Amino acid sequence: SDEVDEAEGIDGKEEPQTRTTYNIVFVTAEAAPYSKTGGLGDVCGSLPIVLASRGHRVMVVSPRYLNGTAADKKFASVVDTESRIKVPCFGGEQEVAFFHEYREGVDWVFVDHPAYHRPGNPYGDCYGAFGDNQFRFTLLCHAACEAPLVLPLGGYTYGENCMFVINDWHAGLVSVLLAAKYRPHGVYKDARSILVIHNLAHQGVEPAATYKNLGLPPEWYGALGWVFPTWARTHALDTGEAVNILKGAVVTADRILTVSKGYSWEITTVEGGYGLQELLGSRKRVLDGITNGIDDATWNPSSDEHIAFHYSAEDLSGKAQCKIALQKELGLPVRPDCPLIGFIGRLDYQKGIDLIQQAIPELMQDDIQFVMLGSGDPRFEEWMRATESAYRDKFRGWVEFNVPISHRITAGCDILLMPSRFEPCGLNQLYAMRYGTIPVVHCTGGLGDTVETFNPYAQDGNGEGTGWTFSPLVKENMLWALRVAISTYREHKSSWKGLMKRAMQKDFTWETAAMQYEQVFEWAFTDLP
Ligand code: ADP
Repeated sequence: SDEVDEAEGIDGKEEPQTRTTYNIVFVTAEAAPYSKTGGLGDVCGSLPIVLASRGHRVMVVSPRYLNGTAADKKFASVVDTESRIKVPCFGGEQEVAFFHEYREGVDWVFVDHPAYHRPGNPYGDCYGAFGDNQFRFTLLCHAACEAPLVLPLGGYTYGENCMFVINDWHAGLVSVLLAAKYRPHGVYKDARSILVIHNLAHQGVEPAATYKNLGLPPEWYGALGWVFPTWARTHALDTGEAVNILKGAVVTADRILTVSKGYSWEITTVEGGYGLQELLGSRKRVLDGITNGIDDATWNPSSDEHIAFHYSAEDLSGKAQCKIALQKELGLPVRPDCPLIGFIGRLDYQKGIDLIQQAIPELMQDDIQFVMLGSGDPRFEEWMRATESAYRDKFRGWVEFNVPISHRITAGCDILLMPSRFEPCGLNQLYAMRYGTIPVVHCTGGLGDTVETFNPYAQDGNGEGTGWTFSPLVKENMLWALRVAISTYREHKSSWKGLMKRAMQKDFTWETAAMQYEQVFEWAFTDLP
């Protein structure tokens, strides 16, 4: 690590005159704009750039996905480094290639192998998750461990003294490899790893017999060994034994972070721990949470390229125009005063779509408009289409992953609904607030951390808060919160304006998050457990 002179302060927070810089290696299954299915892609597309701008040397290692659609163009500027390595795993030596692009101060490194070239998204296709994901992400992890040693990027390699930031189970094997494969041979002795958990529901669990494929010494089985509860076993002879890659990362990482403080506590509870709660609890000393930032260049109502009218907290007139434009685009009646509610997200059990399903018949009795954008579970997609047919003048169900329309919904709606069952951080509520769209959310994880319920009496009657949170997660509570929001919108115009302004002025920048990450890097290097 190096030191840079730094005198600037951010938001009045004093920064030290000199600050240590690191060689940082992000390992991730997705990084926007190259690949993205959700928040993980956003984080790994933004945070590295901000860290690089703060003086660190930053590399992001991710697969070079090609699926034969227009999306492949995103990799057009990425060139073959001609560097090849052989990865010892899955009973042989797998050859992978490294592609590279230096953009916005970051070395974007892409691992290439035929297993990343197929229709679908990074994890699966319309038939479900790919059957060989353990293979695909084992390759990624081995390659990511080699990249800093072998790639002479900009003329010289990153070397051994790295800070690995490993994201979710797909990258989890990295910290196990550092401990089991490299350090016993004197390599990466001074490297550190931070596991960032974006979603604990996915852990990379496969039958125990697959352990031999991972390229780890046999004596390390215990780090990944896992036993399914009895109810999850398929037949009487099933012993429930499995390997759990995320568990291996939890055991071996130097630090563990989640993408909000609230979620870092939830994962140590039975309800939120997905079986890993006790293990995570035992690592509490190295566990913390840092709320994600938002990318100000792409999510900014005063410059957003996807919206027709720009606006700011000082001049909100463009937002009213955006609403009209959205109503027109959706083919809904153009009614500036009718509350327009939006939902954006993966159509997944996690996102509480079933609650919206239950509430729609009642909600459609009210004089409101509702638009949902999402793709995922075919049953929910079907339901969205059917609901649109049933309530033509009130409901739109847009079944697609479509980034431009997600910006126009964020800008054009009055209210954004997020009844997520659990939410490690949640980005849409942050985007919504930035665009003066008031979030109504289940009080969980990052949603509870970032949305403060409206209190009209606080601050000498000027009000406080940026939205509404409700709990526990039942239809009645969600409807209650929505209806309070709707009546505030209709009947208390000045309160609503106050809500919009406070929401738009909240600080969710990556700069703030990056400073917190730096503190964790320093902690990892200076204080060994
Ligand atoms: P998660 O990572 O669980 O999907 P987040 O709220 O952290 O949830 O991030 C979701 C990201 O994906 C946001 O940037 C959101 O705008 C985007 N997104 C989700 N569904 C869609 C969609 N159908 N079209 C466009 N963007 C979407």
